[in-house]
Amino acid sequence: MPQRALEEDKEMLIRYYRKAGILRSPEVERAFRKVPREEFVLSGYRDMAYVDRPLPIGYGQTISAPHMVVMMCEALELKPGHKVLEVGTGSGYHAAVIAEIVAPEGSEDQGLVVSIERIPELVEYARRNLERTGYLGRVRVICGDGSKGYPEEAPYDRILVTAAAPRVPKPLVEQLKVGGILVIPVGSLYLYQDLLKVRKLPSGEVSVENLGGVAFVPLVGKYGWRL
Ligand code: SAM
Repeated sequence: MPQRALEEDKEMLIRYYRKAGILRSPEVERAFRKVPREEFVLSGYRDMAYVDRPLPIGYGQTISAPHMVVMMCEALELKPGHKVLEVGTGSGYHAAVIAEIVAPEGSEDQGLVVSIERIPELVEYARRNLERTGYLGRVRVICGDGSKGYPEEAPYDRILVTAAAPRVPKPLVEQLKVGGILVIPVGSLYLYQDLLKVRKLPSGEVSVENLGGVAFVPLVGKYGWRL
């Protein structure tokens, strides 16, 4: 499929997301338009880069559907300069979209995305994708169990979990700044989960908003599922 056709597919998604109220902010729209999802999918799926569904990336894992990336970015209320922890790097695509918002090229507000992935082969895959597309300087990819967070770089302005947990992992709340936002799918294994928006209050307590039903691959680890 020629590049122009991919761009047309992407513009169609943007129009649809705006109409549906999924895409609301100019920052998320700019980042979604800028980051080439076709560079983060396996080569056999390039033509499907802007079909609105998750796609396999190997090792039983997926790159999330584009509408889910947009929804989660909107929920995170990202700002330039934010330090963001992503748990579940996968292909590196979502991390690149976040980096485009928190650390836009040429801006003085240099935010950072720290992204942690448990499967070493996907860590390499994501690094290659991020390097080829120019995001590796703004995204640090770590190999490890992200259900424990990544205390070395804490505290974070925002935390995003792109795999489903049985409950909100305590270390992630601990590593969030006061006023910070954590977005995470919580619920049953493989089936239905709720996408939660968790805000850390000055008291250290949290407020939780349920953004609706989703279906994610499991968060596997100490504070996730023990598979
Ligand atoms: N954000 C990804 C992207 O843009 O391609 C999609 C992520 S995929 C839906 C979920 C990822 O979470 C998988 O790559 C999986 O290996 C990873 N994962 C699961 N449990 C994890 C854990 N405890 N720590 C880090 N990564 C984990």
